[in-house]
Formats: sequence, structure tokens, C-alpha cells
Amino acid sequence: MLRWLASFLAKIPFFRSHHFHTGLWSLGHHRCVDNPHHSSELRIVTGIMECRTCGLFQRLPAVLPGEVAECCRCGSQLERRRRTATLGGPWAFCIAALAFYGALLVSSVMMLNVYGHVNVIVMMSGPHQLVSQGMGIIAVLVALTSVILPGVVLLMMCAILYGAGKDDLPTWCRPLLAWYERLRPWSMVEVYVIGLLVAYTKLIDLALVILLPGTFLLGALMLSMAALDSTFDAEMIWEHRSVRAEKGHPPYDGATNPMPPPRHMLSCGTCELVLLAPHAIPNTADMGDCPRCGQILHRRKPNAVQGAICFLIAAFVFYIPANCLPVMTYARLGKGYPNTIIGGVHELWQADLWVLALIVLFASITLPVLKIVSLALMLYCELTRRAWHLIGLSKLYHIVMLIGRWSMIDVFMISILVAVVRFSFFAHVTADPGIVFFAMVVVLTIFAADMYDPRGVWDAAGRNERHPGFLPHQHRHPLKRRHRGHGCPKGPPVVTTTPEPLASLGAEGQP
Ligand SMILES: [Zn+2]
Ligand SMILES: [Zn+2]
Repeated sequence: MLRWLASFLAKIPFFRSHHFHTGLWSLGHHRCVDNPHHSSELRIVTGIMECRTCGLFQRLPAVLPGEVAECCRCGSQLERRRRTATLGGPWAFCIAALAFYGALLVSSVMMLNVYGHVNVIVMMSGPHQLVSQGMGIIAVLVALTSVILPGVVLLMMCAILYGAGKDDLPTWCRPLLAWYERLRPWSMVEVYVIGLLVAYTKLIDLALVILLPGTFLLGALMLSMAALDSTFDAEMIWEHRSVRAEKGHPPYDGATNPMPPPRHMLSCGTCELVLLAPHAIPNTADMGDCPRCGQILHRRKPNAVQGAICFLIAAFVFYIPANCLPVMTYARLGKGYPNTIIGGVHELWQADLWVLALIVLFASITLPVLKIVSLALMLYCELTRRAWHLIGLSKLYHIVMLIGRWSMIDVFMISILVAVVRFSFFAHVTADPGIVFFAMVVVLTIFAADMYDPRGVWDAAGRNERHPGFLPHQHRHPLKRRHRGHGCPKGPPVVTTTPEPLASLGAEGQP
């Protein structure tokens, strides 16, 4: 069944695009699906990795368990080896998370008692109530990010771990792993927990609020999914896959042979396999399918600048009504009090809940502006070919990617309030159009950041045309003091260690 589904999905270019939103563009773009082309001129390169943030190809030393290898130019993380067993740790946390998730689906989350009128909510009450108020789009967004996708990614993880335990990684596992990495950021249990906390503190003034077992299951689910993320190492599973043999082209050993020109190499956007072509590779040309993960290969994300600009402009336009229009109306004893986002922050501040007020202020007002301004700055530097604080811009991009989803706190909080405060005349909360604009800003800025290729600013500054003269090497232990390797100003790069052959997954990590 899984095999059939995977082979069906693999026939659609959308599901093989290395990049979620490029996938959206390629929906209307046809390829001979029965014979997906594999470029026969590409050779697999071993011992070299591309930094996906700055585009520098570099030799990688052997990374031991518990260690992190960083890009020697921009400092982004290139590879990280976990200390835990490759499959045992993720299996344990995945099963625990699935158990919590299953229990959460049938448990009540919160109970509100107003003058003897009792209302109990479950996870789906928010989306259900939003639909009945004509806010279908928000209901779908909340249901997807808080209820459906956490379950989907956990089931996908189970299938991936099951496949990775076999001697050879099964074919259906490849698109599953690629899609797991794409969908994982959209499962927002941890953001939902903060939204629930904000809703709870708003309600305790109003009436008697009782947290039911669902809240604690939600906390347990959040922790077990975080533990799953910190023990799961996708790179180890990709390494485990035997790469399809190439006709007459042995892999190019980058650790001992000279470094090929950077314009002749590209790395897969999903599994980071490096490939070498006999000629310079056009930046956005479709280079066939990755021999390891099967996703479409591009040297740079196609339409990165145009797509990011479109999403950013749309996000900026929506940001204005998102902050001016009320996001919800709180009606008490027949009298309505419309609430804007900043009004909600003000209310929390006046109730002396200044920590929560600052969290909501930061997540809802500052974060979208920060995201829009940072991406606009990167686009400006790229389009004007300005070599301006390139390392700082790369770090900024990582921050934008990391914090983007936390703006959903307000959306989740309103979905909870709408579900729980339903006492007709006494107290009633309804969602207002402002929340639609606000959710659109959050989603569009996530799309813009995902669409954008941070290597563009380094390309525009001319830093990726040839290899830099020397490659200083940073290689740090996360728990120990950061220590740098030595760089030599001329000649071949100093780090010449080839990655050690990785331990076989089956032997090491069987649950
Ligand atoms: Zn880098
Ligand atoms: Zn790949």
C-alpha cells in the first residue's frame, strides 16, 4: 500500500520538487512521468559538502557523535551527529508521542464554568466553532497545524524508522523522508501550547477554568516531539541508502582529489548529496532527479527572488488590516468589546501579566515586521549586488526561519477562546476578519522565507565564483568550548579527512 502510494506520488513533479513552494509552481509543468530523467553526466561527489546558507563547497572532517561541523565561512551548521542510537532513540520518542497524540484526540482539554454553565472543549472544538462563525480558512489552518499534521508527521516518522531498519532503505521511504522534512515545521504543537497558556490566563479573570487531562497530554506530546527531533538524524538515514550505480562513472572522491570548480557542482536540496557535472551548471536549470532521494535537482532554488518578493509584498499589504481591524469580539452581558492585536497586549499588560504581554507583543507585532524587513534587506542586497555584512545576513536568515511559526500564537489563542467562551448572553467570543489577515501574514512570510535562497546574496557579491584561497576549519563540540582548526593561507584546504564510513543502521539502531 505504502509502496503503491509512494510510486504514485513520485509520478507527480510536485512531489519530487526539493522545495515545497517550487513544487507549487511545478504543478502546471509536465515531464515525461513514466521515465523520470536522471542526468547521466552527473557524478556523485564524496567527502565534499555544500553550505546551504552561503553556497561554499568544503571538505568535511569526520564528525563524531555529539559533535557539530560548521561552515568555515558563515558558521551555519553543516552536519550534526547525535549521541543517541540512530533508530532506538527516535523509535522510543515516536511511539511515546503517538501514544500521547492518540490519547489527546479523545481527551478534553479545558473546562470553563460561568455561573454554573459548563463548557468543555476538545482539540477540534476551535476549528469546529470557527467554521460555524464563517471563518473556514482559519479553521482549516488551525486544524492542520495543531491536530492533523502532528499526527501525519508522527505516522510518517514511524514508516521512515521502519524502512530505515531494513538492510536497504526501501524506495517508498525516500519521498516520505523528503516530505517529512517539509511538513515538520507545519506541525505546531509547541506554539499551540503557548496559545493555550495565553488563553488560560485571559480566562482565569472571567470565570472558573479547569485544565483537563488533554492539556497535560498536549505538554507531553510537545516534549516527546521535541525529543524526537533532537534524536532523529535524517543524514544518517540518507547515508544508509545505497546510491544507484552510475553507468561508467565512479564516484568522485573529493577528499583526496582536487576540489572541482564550484560552478560545476550542485547539492541536492533535500538530501544534500553533492553532484559534479563536466561543465558549468546553469543556476536554475532542472538537472534531473537526485540519484539518492529522487527529488528534482536545481543548483539554486528556481524563482527565489521573484517568489520571495511577491510573498513579501502580499504579506506587507495584509499586515496593515491585520493590525487595524479587530481580531475578535468579546461580548459580555450583551455588550461587545472588539479587540485588536495590540489591544490584547495592552489588556495583558494591565492585568500585570507582563511576561505574557511581552511574548504576545513580540510574536504578533514584532516578528512579522522583523521577518518582512530582514527578507527585504536580503533581497535588496542581492538585487543591488552589495557585499554588506554577508555573515550577519546569513545569521538573520536562520533566525527568520526559526522564529517564523511563533506568530501563530494569536491565531491559536483565538481559536481556543472562540471554542470555550460560548455562553450566549453572559459571555461570548467571536472571531473577526482581522485574524484572517493576520494568519495570512504569518503564512505568507513563512512562504517567502522558504522560497528565498540565502545563497543569492553570496552569489551576488561574487563570493561563489571560485574557491576562497584558504578554508579555515571550525569544528566544535556543542557542550565543550568551541575550538577552531588552523587554516593555511595558500595551497590546498587544510581539512583533508574523508568522512569515516558510517556505522550500519541496522546493526546499531534496531529497536
Ligand atoms: Zn556557509
Ligand atoms: Zn537528494
